Amino acid sequence: MKRIEELVRPNIQKLAPYSCARDEFKGEASIYMDANESCLAGPDGRYPDPLQTEIKEKLRTYTGLRPEQMMLGNGSDEPIDLVYRVFCNPGVDNVVAIAPTYGMYKVAADINDIEYRSVMLEEGSFALNAEKLLAATDAKTKVVWMCSPNNPTGNKIGMAEMEKVLEKFEGIVVVDEAYGDFTDETILGKVADGKHKNLIVLKTFSKAWGLAGIRCGMAFADASIIALFNKVKYPYNVNILTQRRVLEALGNEAAFRRDVRTIVEARDMLEARLRSGEIGSVRHVYATDANFVLVKFDDPVRVYKALVERGIITRNRNSVTMCEGCLRITTGTKAENEELLKALKEIG
Ligand SMILES: *Cc1c(COP(=O)(O)O)cnc(C)c1O
Repeated sequence: MKRIEELVRPNIQKLAPYSCARDEFKGEASIYMDANESCLAGPDGRYPDPLQTEIKEKLRTYTGLRPEQMMLGNGSDEPIDLVYRVFCNPGVDNVVAIAPTYGMYKVAADINDIEYRSVMLEEGSFALNAEKLLAATDAKTKVVWMCSPNNPTGNKIGMAEMEKVLEKFEGIVVVDEAYGDFTDETILGKVADGKHKNLIVLKTFSKAWGLAGIRCGMAFADASIIALFNKVKYPYNVNILTQRRVLEALGNEAAFRRDVRTIVEARDMLEARLRSGEIGSVRHVYATDANFVLVKFDDPVRVYKALVERGIITRNRNSVTMCEGCLRITTGTKAENEELLKALKEIG
């Protein structure tokens, strides 16, 4: 593993960050005359905490990490983009990613003018082969992208293989656990143990927490990486309404656990019914550890369009390499899943 100072872009290493009013004075005061906000403002009229301290304190119990090891963003999309802006020199460096996977890693690479190398997961199982992934890296590879459970395949790609990548790769290793809340497996312990300073783990409030609309993602990493993220991000990147809503959600862990169980139960039932043979057009149902199922159909485009006509929208992944013939179906409630199954039977 290289030292973080060797991996970071030189201009970012040298960057003197903007110091906002809320950075300079922290604490409680009776009269604020420092930030040019309206003196007539109510509770939403003040700038939010740029480091979201209260949320991070709450996240200690969920993650076992310290606030200095956490960054919150405008969705996970923000830390994904920050990885490029902090570590990758445009037109020079490259990244290596599993494929098929979440499209934003490539879009953010293209925006930042970084070469993006895809390494196919294993045919059939969609498992990770660490050797194959490492073989695609070279001296200019700054980042390796992995996602587990993976989107759009739905499976955990293999903890032992991810750990091999983490042990052998010299640069930054990102593991996106957007769907991690639907499984018991997480690589977060490798951030907690302090021995893997090159590991970044992404999580989000958009999936299991049911808060996609408020845009809040999380990055967990060694404090040296988080300090770089904090230096580059917009000062007030998580607005006050979002912070308040996240705090409320974190305060009700029982509701979160209950919702996760409900979603997993509905998904399990949907998966079983799709496998049962009652839908003639289903050719294969891939194993899933997320809140969606990847399903191969005889004629996916016909099925997709017929579902749209009935007001049911799935995600057509037919044009994604290795997902030919597939629709990705997010689990609905039990009642919604029944409607989907009924529609699939009618469509034939
Ligand atoms: C949905 C998803 C996210 C979440 O993105 P947000 O910007 O936090 O809403 C991140 N990674 C993957 C793989 C996803 O599927």
